[in-house]
Amino acid sequence: MTVADRPTRPDDTPVDKEALRRRYRQERDKRLRPDGNDQYLRLTGGLARYLDDPYTPKTPREPKTDHVTVAFIGGGFAGLVTGARLKEAGVGDVRIIEKGGDFGGTWYWNRYPGAQCDTASFVYMPLLEETGHMPTEKYAHGPEILEHCRRIGKHFDLYGDALFHTEVKDLEWDGTRSRWIIRTDRGDEFTARFVAMGTGPLHVPKLPGIPGIESFRGHSFHTSRWDYGYTGGDPSGAPMDRLAGKRVAVIGTGATAVQCVPHLARACGELYVFQRTPSSVDVRDNRPTDPEWFARIATPGWQRRWLENFTANQTGGTAAEDLVMDGWTDIARRVRARITALPPGDLTPEKMLEAYEDSDFEKMEEIRARVDAIVEDPETARKLKAWYGQLCKRPCFHDEYLQAYNLPGTHLVDTDGKGVERITEAGVVAAGREYEVDCVIYASGFEVGTDHTRRAGYDMTGRDGVRLSERWAEGMRTLHGIHVHGFPNAFFVQPAQGANLISNIPHNLTEAGRAIALIVEHALAGGFDEVEVTREAEDAWIELLLSGPGTLLGSPDCTPGYYNNEGRDPGLRGRLNVGYPRGAMAYFAYLDRWSASGAFEGLEFR
Ligand code: NDP
Repeated sequence: MTVADRPTRPDDTPVDKEALRRRYRQERDKRLRPDGNDQYLRLTGGLARYLDDPYTPKTPREPKTDHVTVAFIGGGFAGLVTGARLKEAGVGDVRIIEKGGDFGGTWYWNRYPGAQCDTASFVYMPLLEETGHMPTEKYAHGPEILEHCRRIGKHFDLYGDALFHTEVKDLEWDGTRSRWIIRTDRGDEFTARFVAMGTGPLHVPKLPGIPGIESFRGHSFHTSRWDYGYTGGDPSGAPMDRLAGKRVAVIGTGATAVQCVPHLARACGELYVFQRTPSSVDVRDNRPTDPEWFARIATPGWQRRWLENFTANQTGGTAAEDLVMDGWTDIARRVRARITALPPGDLTPEKMLEAYEDSDFEKMEEIRARVDAIVEDPETARKLKAWYGQLCKRPCFHDEYLQAYNLPGTHLVDTDGKGVERITEAGVVAAGREYEVDCVIYASGFEVGTDHTRRAGYDMTGRDGVRLSERWAEGMRTLHGIHVHGFPNAFFVQPAQGANLISNIPHNLTEAGRAIALIVEHALAGGFDEVEVTREAEDAWIELLLSGPGTLLGSPDCTPGYYNNEGRDPGLRGRLNVGYPRGAMAYFAYLDRWSASGAFEGLEFR
């Protein structure tokens, strides 16, 4: 490597790679905790009140005892896109069961001020072409995305059969009748020929296990249940007038806090942001959509072209142009430039990893320099700098978050990786000092890495009485992330063991939904009662996944977080949380071929 090829700081001085590696290790080590993922509190008992739906009143209804062709558990994007494809395939009765009061999933719950998609709307919002919607901004805000969910629900006639404010409690396969029995917390007990599930990767709010958390006498809520009754304002950004003069604590500085802190900073008397690990915050550069430009690009098939282009650019494939041009594609563009610059003899996995590390060092130096350029107080700027690789934690993009710390009423309380010490009746204790506040807002995220059945809220009993929790005791096992042997006529809609495209979750769901609709259509047209993946096909798929390079996410060298099981070896369970070894683009192409062939290799129709 020549001096000119070395990663540089924004001022062009070369980066001392060894010093950076040392610094990253030190910062990681001080955050490692013996309790790992157990540090978080489950919201049961008295804490279950944090889960109450503040948005829609629950209305009484009669329990269902009928039969439907397809039941889908979860009314977020997974249910909507799969439901849409099933309707297109001619399945008239698709019943979506949803614990929230409407469609939307994550966008139903997360109505905090400033909520906005982090992936460009043109690829993030599914079924834009089918529903004829033009996103109003490059990164649409929460209310528009929630409205789009409703639009999909109406367009594909999914409301009529939907059951809202309903939680599935049990799923049982009835082999004698080849159907699933579904029991819910609303007294329903109905049957379905097929069940599909998209219960979401991040949907069970968690609280930090801070001593004294239940003793606080002031007001408190989790960001995914925003209490506009207390704060004033609304999800579209109206000022939170009731916070004027109030002292508010925000606990956590992840992607959610990055989006809501600027709004709180403008509204509160005093805002204390409690930080354990800073997020990396790159440029957002949002802008309204120019309708004339949109009319030019929105020719038939446009969204599929954009999806393929984004995925190709983001996952290191080849594409002549970069349509989205944002922070996500920038990560991959830089890595690709470094790798293609390697002499042919240097195209080894080690050299490619080194090229990745160089590119990451360069990017993170820029992100740290951005903090210095924006944050006026040097001490606050120092504490806001992230010392880890960009993909160690969720990359954030925002043009008002760092600026918020320049407002006189906004205070960063950095805990030097230790976290909040205690919560008292009156406030929050960190680094030995008590901060008295009127309200604590927990931006503390969602359960990840806990058992699937615990997060889903129900177990499944498949063929021969086998429970899913038993089948997956050592980790998830599927074909394509969708089919599980022993669980006929059941489909999972989620990214793992499929494309595992983290930068655009809905794309994973749309492709899975399309494949499932084709399978259901094939089964119904052929008069088959059951469809099930063979044991051999499932085993072969798992073997293929484990033969791959794994994922860049979740390295044990990273600072602890939900990407890497809080820094603890995730074992086989973690290693099974991967995608197709040849990448997301190749997976989507493979799945297309697999379903289009009509043979559905690996599935048994009977
Ligand atoms: P996260 O899990 O990312 O963040 C939780 C925060 O709480 C972290 O900063 C964590 O610190 C902090 N925390 C936990 N315990 C303590 C403690 N004891 N003391 C102090 N701080 C503590 O949750 P988010 O809700 O921010 O985001 C979850 C995910 O949701 C994102 O990663 C992203 O995938 C998705 N999301 C997507 C958005 C979008 O697309 N627009 C917007 C928002 C979220 P530490 O980092 O040290 O663990």
